[in-house]
Amino acid sequence: MDVFLTEEIGFCFGVRRALALVSDELKRGNHIYTLGDLIHNTGVVESLRKKGVIPISSLSQISKGTVIIRSHGASPSLIKEGRRKGLKILDATCPYVLRVQNIARYFSMKSYQVIIIGLATHPEVKAVIENVNKRRAYVVKNPQEATRIPFASKIGVVAQTTESIDNFEKIVKNLVQKGREIRIFNTICKVIRERQENTKRLAKKVEAMIVVGGHNSSNTYQLVKLCKLLKVKTYFVETRKDLQIRELKHLKKVGLVGGTSTPMRALEEIRDFLLSIN
Ligand code: SF4
Repeated sequence: MDVFLTEEIGFCFGVRRALALVSDELKRGNHIYTLGDLIHNTGVVESLRKKGVIPISSLSQISKGTVIIRSHGASPSLIKEGRRKGLKILDATCPYVLRVQNIARYFSMKSYQVIIIGLATHPEVKAVIENVNKRRAYVVKNPQEATRIPFASKIGVVAQTTESIDNFEKIVKNLVQKGREIRIFNTICKVIRERQENTKRLAKKVEAMIVVGGHNSSNTYQLVKLCKLLKVKTYFVETRKDLQIRELKHLKKVGLVGGTSTPMRALEEIRDFLLSIN
């Protein structure tokens, strides 16, 4: 069996930055909390928990210590509340996510109806919404939803950083009929765009794709969707243990890609496992 990895793989810059902040803080010996899981990868979150990095769901659960704002960002009011409580706040919001927040805030200040292309339940989108006038903001996840947006004289469009470029283009096409002045910022992260392109290229030359990442990871899920759209046999796994030899042993060419929160060691473990099959 030949195993091919996409050109650009492993943690993205934003995840590496968040992990580096945590590691520095651990060296200082402080109690560390993250609002939700630091990244969407169970293995990494569990190993951090063993080192004393505890995910919490609300600031009311703690009265002291350091809170890491994860790369998805958080609402300004939450950061303010943390500081008011005397907590040390370390902001690991990815600069690409901050850019989405800044553009959306600008649109809101200038009275644009703000459209965020993405998933309303995703923490990154929730944080963007907290930065704008909620009464004039919509989250749109597919082209059908875009047709239901009310007409407005000024519309400003941004995207969740992990959105798929194909879905973004289709939604934008439907949004252009919804306003007189429409400003569109393609805020999909460069790393995500490249990973999607590399995945498409690789999926076209193999018999099966193995996509490695957390089941709660939005960008990993987009890679799975992409592979399935290309009609290549696709396995969505978190670790090597999710793979069955009997399903794979007949394959000659397999492609391997991971989400931006998937550690290189998980990918290497799977690559070595695949190579050991024959
Ligand atoms: S995927 Fe892109 S936007 Fe998200 S954390 Fe990584 S670098 Fe930042």
